[in-house]
Amino acid sequence: MQLWMESGMKIRIALERCKGHQACVRSAPELFFIGEDGFARLRAGEDVAPEQAENALLAYDNCPEFAIEIVP
Ligand code: SF4
Repeated sequence: MQLWMESGMKIRIALERCKGHQACVRSAPELFFIGEDGFARLRAGEDVAPEQAENALLAYDNCPEFAIEIVP
């Protein structure tokens, strides 16, 4: 695992690009949920714990709208 993943990273959702596919929820249900408006939300804010980093990257890779941003 890369050093920046071990030391924590941040994720953001660009809601203007989100289309509600739920691929992020399937990849990382501990990080994402779908809000009442049908678009993705973060369960616990931007900070990703080191043990959640792998799923965060999976969600990033699987979002077809490139709506997930990862900030090292
Ligand atoms: S996979 Fe991407 S576009 Fe789909 S709900 Fe999640 S963040 Fe939104």
